[in-house]
Amino acid sequence: MDEFGLIEEFFTRPARRAEVVLGIGDDAALLALAGATSTLAVTTDTLVEGVHFRPSAPSFDVGYKALAVNVSDLAAMGARPLAFLLSLAVPMADRTWLAGFRDGLFTLADAVGLDLIGGDTVRGPLAVTITALGSVAPGAALRRDGARPGDRVYVSGQLGEAALGFLLRAGRLSLPSRFHESVLTRLDRPWPRIHEGQALIGIASAAIDISDGLVADLGHILKASGVGAELDLRRLPLSEAYDAAFATVGYDPAIAFGDDYELCFTVPPERVQALAGIAPHPPCGFHYIGDIVAGAGLTLRDGQGVYTPAQAGYNHFDGPAPL
Ligand code: ADP
Ligand code: MG
Repeated sequence: MDEFGLIEEFFTRPARRAEVVLGIGDDAALLALAGATSTLAVTTDTLVEGVHFRPSAPSFDVGYKALAVNVSDLAAMGARPLAFLLSLAVPMADRTWLAGFRDGLFTLADAVGLDLIGGDTVRGPLAVTITALGSVAPGAALRRDGARPGDRVYVSGQLGEAALGFLLRAGRLSLPSRFHESVLTRLDRPWPRIHEGQALIGIASAAIDISDGLVADLGHILKASGVGAELDLRRLPLSEAYDAAFATVGYDPAIAFGDDYELCFTVPPERVQALAGIAPHPPCGFHYIGDIVAGAGLTLRDGQGVYTPAQAGYNHFDGPAPL
C-alpha cells in the first residue's frame, strides 16, 4: 500500500457540506463560505526529523522549508497567501534552535505575506506541521482535474536541482564546486512559485506543484483529469549544474526525485499566447515539455525512444526514506 492507497482506503469520503467545493485529492481543499466573495484554499504538510530533514539541518532551513512546501501547494491552486497555523513538536525548548527556526519561518512568511494565526506546541520527537490558508476567486482555482487532450504540458524553472543537492550532500555525486551552493540552496530553501500560480489563473487548465517528482506529480494530473501525456525528455529545463552531472545521473533525478517545488501545468492551445504575457517573478521561465493525449498514462521519450525511469517518484510507504 502506498500513501495514496492508504488515504483512499481509510480517509476518502464524500463531502457532506455544500461549502466543500473540493475535498481530498488536490494540492489544497477549497471552501466556499456562504456569502463570501472569495474561496478559501486550505493545505497542510508535515516535516519530520530524520524523514524530511537530517538531524543536523540548520533550524533556519527547517522553518523556511516547512512553510515553503505549504506555500507551494497554495501556488499550485493559484491562491493568494493569507495566514498559517504552526504545530510544533520539539524534544526540548532550545532557544538557539527556536530562534533560527523562527527566523527561517518568518523570512518566508514576510516574503509572501502570510500571518501566523495560531498553532500548537508540544514536547515530542521533532516534527513541524503547518496548515496554510489562501484565497482565490470563486471557480478560478487551478485544479488537477482540468487537463484535456491537446493541452500542452509546461513546467516552471529547472528540475532536478534539489535532487543534485541531496546526492551531493550524501556523497553520492561529485560536482564542480561552483555549482555546490546553488543546488544545496534549491534543496534547503526552495522558492515557491506563488506569483506564477496566481498569474496562471485563466490560462492553465490544470496545475500541481512538483513535490514528489515530475513523473509522480504529473501522474496525479493525468489520473484526476482522465487523460494521458507524452513528454520529450530532451525538452526538460536542466541547469548548467545538471548538464555537468548528466553523464553520471541521467534523467531520473530531474523526473523522479522531487523536492523541486516548481509548478507543472497544462495550457489549452488557444491560451498559449497568453502565457507569454506572464513575467515570472523572480524570473524562472515556463518550459513546454510535452502534450496531453487521450487515454491514460505517461509516455516519456528521449533521443533513443521510450524511456522508463528506475523509480517513479518519492512515496512514503514504498521505497527507502529520502535521507
Ligand atoms: P501534496 O503533495 O500536494 O501536499 P499529498 O500527496 O500530501 O498532497 O496528499 C494528496 C491528497 O490527499 C491531498 O489532497 C491531501 O490533502 C490528502 N490527504 C493526505 N493525507 C490525508 C489524510 N490523512 N486524511 C485526509 N486527506 C489526506
Ligand atoms: Mg502539492
